Amino acid sequence: MHFDTLALRATHQPDSVTGVVVPPIYLSTTYARNESNELPANYLYTRPNNPNREALEKALATLEGGAIAMAFGSGQAATMTLFQALSPGDHVLLSTDAYYGTPALLEQVFHPWGLTYTRVDMRDLNAVRASIHENTRIIWCETPSNPMLDITDLQAVSQIAHEAGAICVCDNTWATPVLQRPFDFGCDVVMHSTTKYLNGHSDVLGGALIFKEDNEFAQRVKLLQGLSGAVPSPFDCWLISRGIKTLGVRVRAQSSTAQAIAEFLEGHSAVEKVHYPGLASHASHALVQQQMKGPGAMLSVQVKGGAEEAIRFIGKLNLFTRATSLGGVESLIEHRATAEGPNSITPKNLLRISVGLEYADDLIADLAQALA
Ligand SMILES: *Cc1c(COP(=O)(O)O)cnc(C)c1O
Repeated sequence: MHFDTLALRATHQPDSVTGVVVPPIYLSTTYARNESNELPANYLYTRPNNPNREALEKALATLEGGAIAMAFGSGQAATMTLFQALSPGDHVLLSTDAYYGTPALLEQVFHPWGLTYTRVDMRDLNAVRASIHENTRIIWCETPSNPMLDITDLQAVSQIAHEAGAICVCDNTWATPVLQRPFDFGCDVVMHSTTKYLNGHSDVLGGALIFKEDNEFAQRVKLLQGLSGAVPSPFDCWLISRGIKTLGVRVRAQSSTAQAIAEFLEGHSAVEKVHYPGLASHASHALVQQQMKGPGAMLSVQVKGGAEEAIRFIGKLNLFTRATSLGGVESLIEHRATAEGPNSITPKNLLRISVGLEYADDLIADLAQALA
């Protein structure tokens, strides 16, 4: 089946008793036992499991082609739970360019707890091999990466991980399973901030881990999910499931508008550089074509000048909202160094754009007037 059909079927749960086409939201925190002291549908209490979360988790596993999925209250809660499943003394390899919260968790939470980590440019496979320690358990990839849109060769890095007895994790938030399925390239775990494209409407916080195999490590994470309870509410799960129904059409439309915007910006005299996997000028353009079904709807642009010129430019925009986050239906733009704070290594003239569902020509006209 095509991805779009799969996404619809995976989130479709008609109920033969009531006839509902759209499932209800099960707010009950607890589930009654029958006269024989049995749980009729195996639901006990909403932290370990409930119908809305179970439905979302099944859909997530289907979308990525995995064996089992776990939903969390945020992307960060998902990442945190995965690291909690390691042991003090273990080592993690992380890409240099990554969502700032991933290294922040390793440095501020897990380093004091006994995990060590190394950051490496995942595009440099020799550097990846050289950074492996005998206690390396996870190689964490993020591709395309935030905010430089670097592309990691998932097949090559998974192979390096497996040769070292480690697992390869891919933060697939920016590509989404519409454009990239990391399990097809040997990855073992996929992570998502479902806050972004999966929900798609900038109104729910959520995260997920999907495992290619339902093994001992996956079960350890499942135990931590139910025990520590960093889980989304039934309503949040219901909303994310609803978002998934339109994921394919949204992401393809947003990606095609992003391509038009990237081409426009690249040709503009006020622009220094555009970072977008769909441009022939992108360093990994060939790899993008092997690994992705489309370049996605995120891009970064460096304008000529410094922070002041960059901020003046976005101040003149009318159709792009100046806000952090991404993956919603409305276009957002952000001066990334401001968001990352004083330790940011992001170029000061860089603006990150999340392309929404507005009409491409309108967005381009807005960019043109602001750059003029
Ligand atoms: C937003 C984001 C996260 C963190 O997710 P939250 O839902 O904000 O906790 C992780 N990785 C990437 C690539 C993101 O964009």
